[in-house]
Amino acid sequence: MHINSNVTHGLFRALPVLLLAALIMLWAPRSWALSIFACEPEYASLARELAPDATIFSATTALQDPHQVQARPSLIAKMRRADLVVCAGADLEIGWLPMLQMKANNPKVRDGQLGMFYASDQVQNLDQLANVDRTMGDVHAQGNPHIQFSPQRVAAVASALAARLAELDPANKGEYLSHLEAFQTRWDVAVPKWEAMAAPLNGKKVIAYHTSFRYLFDWLGMEQVGDLEPKPGLAPTSAHLATLLDRTAQGDVMVVVYTGYQDSRGAKWLAERADLPLVMLPFAPGAEGVEDLFDLYEQVIQGLLSVQGGTR
Ligand SMILES: [Zn+2]
Repeated sequence: MHINSNVTHGLFRALPVLLLAALIMLWAPRSWALSIFACEPEYASLARELAPDATIFSATTALQDPHQVQARPSLIAKMRRADLVVCAGADLEIGWLPMLQMKANNPKVRDGQLGMFYASDQVQNLDQLANVDRTMGDVHAQGNPHIQFSPQRVAAVASALAARLAELDPANKGEYLSHLEAFQTRWDVAVPKWEAMAAPLNGKKVIAYHTSFRYLFDWLGMEQVGDLEPKPGLAPTSAHLATLLDRTAQGDVMVVVYTGYQDSRGAKWLAERADLPLVMLPFAPGAEGVEDLFDLYEQVIQGLLSVQGGTR
């Protein structure tokens, strides 16, 4: 027995070092988890699909207006620590993001840096305007940035975001790409299923609030024939509501639509007067019963289908 005692003794002394080395090797790839700051919950959701090990924070919830956000100290602190900021872009966050970037003073997430990712830069947005003046209200001149309801655009943004993650964190490139593949596989199965489910909505007309669901209606072949906002960013006035009520007299409007953060009073007034169903659709993951983008699509379609029988 004693012949091995030196070896055993040496091994015993080396054991903590070996263990430590093994632990470091085991933990090294994960010890540096990317910190991702999303401007809106849909991008936090997408980031979670592609980088489940990252620390992900969303600046807004599904019940918050992403156009209007306070540059609070807590948001500044989160952005200061971020490796990557993911936002809709196309000026959706023009009222708060530049201020946040300035105050956070994080060189990694300045515009033009690898750590600043705008979804709208990856796709072609609908409704880009060549000439804009102040009388038009708070219009989205660079096109509609609410692209979370365009399945093709979401897929394109997912690819670009995975590529960006791989560029920022090359050690885990394989991980990001395999998560992207898994997401795309599920997405490619879900989209035709949703389209089949939504077939009865094709050709239906709606009155909605803002251009929030522009891409949803575009995708499903629906038409928004009236906007509760007289001008983008303005609450409905009684004169404007009266005009919309006149429009409903044509008898072809299926439903009045709004979302959680929008003022429901005008929508309710119109629906009651016009004897139309009113539906509140979730705008982003994090709304009640909406865990991720898949739930979001499922619920908006179900929401519209639930009132579809109300068409006159
Ligand atoms: Zn908007």
